[in-house]
Amino acid sequence: MTTRAQHPAPADAAERKAVRPVICYPPETLPPFDAAFYDAARAGMTQIDAVTVPPRDAATFFVPAGHFFRIAITDGPQVGDLNLWNAADLSERFFSGKTRALHGTHVTTGDRLWSNLPYLRPMATITRDTLDWYGWDADGAGVHDVIGTRCDPYTNHLLNGEDYDRCCHSNLIRALAESRNMTPEEAERHVHDVLNVFMCTGFTQDTQQYFMKASPARPGDFIEFFAEIDLLAALSACPGGDCGSEHSSDAAACYPLRAEIYQPASGTLREWQPPVRNGYTGGHGLR
Ligand SMILES: [Zn+2]
Repeated sequence: MTTRAQHPAPADAAERKAVRPVICYPPETLPPFDAAFYDAARAGMTQIDAVTVPPRDAATFFVPAGHFFRIAITDGPQVGDLNLWNAADLSERFFSGKTRALHGTHVTTGDRLWSNLPYLRPMATITRDTLDWYGWDADGAGVHDVIGTRCDPYTNHLLNGEDYDRCCHSNLIRALAESRNMTPEEAERHVHDVLNVFMCTGFTQDTQQYFMKASPARPGDFIEFFAEIDLLAALSACPGGDCGSEHSSDAAACYPLRAEIYQPASGTLREWQPPVRNGYTGGHGLR
């Protein structure tokens, strides 16, 4: 909404604008984050696998339900674009839009990554975030966004008239196609809006336009998740690098990312059950 208004404000415009905002989804009505449970489970965990994601490329990894996974910065500030699927049924996938509606534009410890309709259950819970200190900066920006969709070659072609094959969308397609022995066309149907790990973004205060700024992540930083169900994950190391200048090109300095899988100490999950599919009966007024 960057154009000038064509219509005069009505006499009661100020009154209409002054009504009280209401939080759409009060977080206290969500199932609570049981920090003590997750802390106990992660206390004695051991690393069982690791995958390196090369710059301007993507890789997949499997996380069994009840395990943790970390996405770590190794060599330099780098944004990662994350897709998640139910490993047994790729039609259940991460729902970035509803995660944003439930938790806000950026996510951190205690927030969940929710799956799409009709499943709508937590796929993963964030259990550690070394960048939680960042909060909101003077530009209104935060880290780990569920606003941006992913860089893709179609938008790039639309805006620049050029073909570029290393956008996160294409990286995720290649990784999924290789992992599940799919054609690129089949894989593309499963690639979805991402969690922008380590990406620092916000909306401009005058025009509410989406902006990005250089990620504050540094080697040693990580974000950690608990897999609530069996997960197939795909992670792209964005060609934008720290996304401080541009993406969809080879111009930015770009670094690898590492995904690490951890198994909790035995016995810590005795009381735990994976979340069930959403309980709505599915009638939609038709039965
Ligand atoms: Zn990207």
